[in-house]
Amino acid sequence: MRFDHDTLPQRVRFASGAAAENLAAEVAALGARRVMVIAATTEQELAHRITDGLPVVHRHDDVVMHVPVEMAERARAEAAAHGTDVLVSIGGGSTTGLAKAVALTTGLPIVAVPTTYAGSEATPVWGLTQDSRKTTGTDPRVLPRAVVYDASLTLTLPAGLSAASGLNALAHCVDSMWAPRTDPINQALAAEGVRALRTGLPLVVKEPDGLQGREQALYGAYLAAVAFASAGSGLHHKICHVLGGMFDLPHAQTHAVVLPHVLAFNGPQAPEAERRLAAAFDAPTANEGLARLRAHLNAPRSLRELGMPEEGVAAAAEAVVAAAPAGNPRAVTLETISGLLQAAWEGTEPR
Ligand code: NAD
Repeated sequence: MRFDHDTLPQRVRFASGAAAENLAAEVAALGARRVMVIAATTEQELAHRITDGLPVVHRHDDVVMHVPVEMAERARAEAAAHGTDVLVSIGGGSTTGLAKAVALTTGLPIVAVPTTYAGSEATPVWGLTQDSRKTTGTDPRVLPRAVVYDASLTLTLPAGLSAASGLNALAHCVDSMWAPRTDPINQALAAEGVRALRTGLPLVVKEPDGLQGREQALYGAYLAAVAFASAGSGLHHKICHVLGGMFDLPHAQTHAVVLPHVLAFNGPQAPEAERRLAAAFDAPTANEGLARLRAHLNAPRSLRELGMPEEGVAAAAEAVVAAAPAGNPRAVTLETISGLLQAAWEGTEPR
């Protein structure tokens, strides 16, 4: 066994119902006196509830998906104008992404309070969109110094969005098994992430008001993101990145649709990943495990229902072939990727 593995520096506080006190402790540990809170309009009430006692100098609520550059610049200007010394982000991946965009140029520390299972809070990856093109990069300055997890903050996330967001997290685990920097440590984290997500997500859908499933899902989402940050982007993420950018598709739902197709495509050529995933799913095969989980989730099944035009398949396939990671377990060709995307567009069973 031979590998190099980096573990990223970040404190995690996980306790349901304790976001306010854990957030206050993290903000105090950073010596903050002038906090800028970033939370979307829809999460403002929730954000106010947990930031009441903090030294807040500004609240920013202009959040949209994929962080348009002009929005990042506005938030950066506001952070400077208010003499901000710590950023607190409260929300899903879009909100964390905006805080990261501010940290990227200012170096301000972030304390993240996630309210979906996207997992951006545990990665040093940033993304910015300009003229419909999304650019991503990695920078240690954007990794939040601390993450405050409180499953009670996710109770308002509707069951459908919870399922799609959970499958986005599951995709981090699956793709970590064959991504460019996959290693035994991130594979172990990914496998435990699969176990937690397959246990938690059906419970979230069955009892959306219960905390047990939400806690498992949030814990699994964190492990998934740590594994992904370490292993890098595999074929699945390259495909979703291309589709999201070309057709402006919803992030979590796109992952939910594409995942079974990539697993069926790569799995047979990646026996070790297949074995680990099947064990984590507690199923005879990884594909069977994912199919059983999806049967509980009522997640979207086709790119067609997400609004992708069928004539876009050919251009997307070309872009995926150009972006595919060199070490993917199965050869990526225009023909195989076109077939995969066509099946995902139609929502037929993965081949
Ligand atoms: P999102 O942040 O856009 O949230 C989706 C919707 O859910 C929004 O309308 C939001 O207001 C709402 N919402 C969030 N939390 C809620 C709650 N608790 N209750 C009710 N509604 C709630 O979507 P997302 O899937 O969390 O994040 C997607 C973005 O994150 C994409 O831009 C993606 O590229 C990025 N992302 C980045 C990384 C990374 O490592 N950099 C990782 C994953 C995702």
